[in-house]
Amino acid sequence: MFRYIVLLGFILLGVSACSSQQSQDFKETRFMLGTIVEFTVYDANETLALKAIQQAAAAMQAVEDEFTTYGQVFNTVKAFNQAQPTEVIQLAPDVEALLLQAINIHEQTLGAFDPTLGELNQLWGFSGGQPPTTPPSKQKISHGLHYSGVENIRHLNKGWTKKIAGLQLDFGAIAKGLAIDKGIEVFKQYGLEHAIINAGGDIRVLGNHGLQPWRIGIRHPRQATALGWIEVGQDLSVVTSGDYERFYMYRGQRYHHILDPKTGEPATQNMSVTVIAETATVADALSTGLFVLGQKQGMDLVEKMAGVEALWVGKDQKIRMSSGMKTIFHISDVAHKK
Ligand code: AMP
Ligand code: MG
Repeated sequence: MFRYIVLLGFILLGVSACSSQQSQDFKETRFMLGTIVEFTVYDANETLALKAIQQAAAAMQAVEDEFTTYGQVFNTVKAFNQAQPTEVIQLAPDVEALLLQAINIHEQTLGAFDPTLGELNQLWGFSGGQPPTTPPSKQKISHGLHYSGVENIRHLNKGWTKKIAGLQLDFGAIAKGLAIDKGIEVFKQYGLEHAIINAGGDIRVLGNHGLQPWRIGIRHPRQATALGWIEVGQDLSVVTSGDYERFYMYRGQRYHHILDPKTGEPATQNMSVTVIAETATVADALSTGLFVLGQKQGMDLVEKMAGVEALWVGKDQKIRMSSGMKTIFHISDVAHKK
């Protein structure tokens, strides 16, 4: 009898030791990069998971500090933006690398993605400060257009210079992606294999959710519900750009924060564009670029790019998908009825 009790105790101990090793979700939420950032780590080691989340958040905050054009913090983006055409500015290594990547995506998207729209973005006033209520005058828009253009910045041996004073770099459409990638890098350095970083709907996934894939909802651009979802069980990023994120209505027309570099005004072709790519940096930049670019040109580009898929919700609320997206996107009933 005694022997059985001992045996039973052993098995129970074994089970409880085993269950304390079982993976579970550890979550933390921070406000940074102008949005709510949610970290989820699926792991058995709580101490490790929470430490990794702290470090990932710190790495993401460092990206915000390096790229922000607001607040008191000094960075090389502000130095460049304030510089005169005679000055050569040495950008921080991360800033220079992201600028080169941004110029590359500018070329791929036929100019639709443009990191030199700082003056125009400020004119429209969607980032920082009081939200606007009326659109700027045509005269001010053409003034803003004059102070933009990738052809007006130059890479020299010692750094970067601009042809016209007043030209401002703006990484608002790509730096959040870089921050997410840096956060995921930290998770990898900690040896974590299952995690997700969600920065206001812009997501990168590491591994899967144990035996399950992660399920990522895509927002409906006009309803407080999901358009559909994607199930992801591998390292991937999913980022959406939409005209519902920052906007106001004026005389029945919607004015939002994604500008067409050709007109200097909010792009009019789409309500939202979702991009899947290996990194959040690429997905972030491409979702903004494809939002501006015509759907046909955008589709041609996506079909050519390895590992990239996209979903467009056009101004008519019609959904269009690249070939790979069709195989993984589950449309919700609400969106179906449209
Ligand atoms: P996202 O939400 O990633 O689409 O980025 C939008 C933000 O990027 C805006 O708030 C601006 O700061 C900036 N932006 C607006 N239009 C463009 C554009 N055509 N190319 C690059 N950045 C842009
Ligand atoms: Mg973007």
